[in-house]
Amino acid sequence: MEFITKILHHPFLKEDPHGSLHMPIYENVAFEFKTAEDIELAFQRKKPAHAYSRITNPTVEHFEQKIRSVTDAVGVIALSSGMAAISNVLLAIASSGDNIIASKHLFGNTYSLFSSTLKHWGLDVRFTDLTKLKNIESLIDDKTRGVFFETITNPQMGVVDVKALAEITKKHKILLMADTTLTPPCAFKSKDFGIDIEVLSSTKYISGGATSVGGLIIDNGTYNWNNNPKLITEAKQFGPFALITLLRRNVYRNLGSCMSPHVAFQQSIGLETLPLRIKASCENTLIVSKFLDTHPKVTAVDYPGLSTSPYYEISKQQFGDLPGGLLTFDLHSKEECFMFMNKLKLLKRSTNLNDNRTLILHPASTIFCEYDDASKKEQGVRETMIRLSVGIEDVEDIIDDIRQALEDI
Ligand code: PLP
Repeated sequence: MEFITKILHHPFLKEDPHGSLHMPIYENVAFEFKTAEDIELAFQRKKPAHAYSRITNPTVEHFEQKIRSVTDAVGVIALSSGMAAISNVLLAIASSGDNIIASKHLFGNTYSLFSSTLKHWGLDVRFTDLTKLKNIESLIDDKTRGVFFETITNPQMGVVDVKALAEITKKHKILLMADTTLTPPCAFKSKDFGIDIEVLSSTKYISGGATSVGGLIIDNGTYNWNNNPKLITEAKQFGPFALITLLRRNVYRNLGSCMSPHVAFQQSIGLETLPLRIKASCENTLIVSKFLDTHPKVTAVDYPGLSTSPYYEISKQQFGDLPGGLLTFDLHSKEECFMFMNKLKLLKRSTNLNDNRTLILHPASTIFCEYDDASKKEQGVRETMIRLSVGIEDVEDIIDDIRQALEDI
């Protein structure tokens, strides 16, 4: 079965007494057990059962299992946000004194998590340009636990050659982690490209158009956890399930960043139309990027789906016709960017992406405002750059609004 069929027809783990077609929202905290022995067995994990919703919940589990069925992963965990997914993985795979290698082009809050929050807990994050693979091997040492990158960098629109990167991580027996927010499972089969762990913000495409905040950890089951000293005990006992076990029994359970049952319900519905919406948004993004590319007031356009992008070929190999719904373009100055944004009548000035509506943002003055000019330059964020998250409106309406706003700047 293909993606949508699998999602729509994914069976419930237990038959619903009323024959509900949607998994009901189990909006409760705790579950009752018939005997004291049963609750002991559940805590010892000798008999699978839901005990407490911070750890597992039937509605959340159903959402996780749907994702597992379309990714062929060994385990999936749903969390309260994309940032929770990233931080849970990092806290599970590394200890103080360890290091990871990360792309220097990342979503601003991820960059902040790595360069500030986790740094204060002793994790050394070595930033580099992962679109140029020649520098990586010199950064790897015996404390390196993995490599982290975004499949399409937000907002720099860079694309890493994933198979080539995976060859390096496999050679050095380190973990390959990817933030696939811009290319969710129906657009990109991370396992086929050698990615071990996928993390993503399901707030974006998956939620169904910005209905709710959520995140996912998807473990492809391809990493030998005996290679990570932090997971050796779990690796001996649980093999490919070592990370999922450590998260469930310790890191995820203790950090308390679970997805709520309501959100799991909304995002399960979002999943049902994900391939339809992503196709519509990618088609619109290509048309809008071509329009901007020929406009005399636009100085540059970056979209991996545009044949002028330096990442066009590799993007095509990895994401086919679905290279995301995000593009950037440049005007002559920050003032022009603001003037243009203020003249828009339909497009929304907003910080999210992959809403069903088209959203516009000036990254340098918002997500990256905490960084000085040198750091912004290093992160590839220009004052003249505008980020557009293209929605699924009729594309002529999007273009008309952009055209009129560009007219007299
Ligand atoms: N990763 C990327 C690429 C993002 O764009 C975002 C948010 O915009 C996140 C992670 C964080 O997701 P969330 O807002 O769900 O925590």
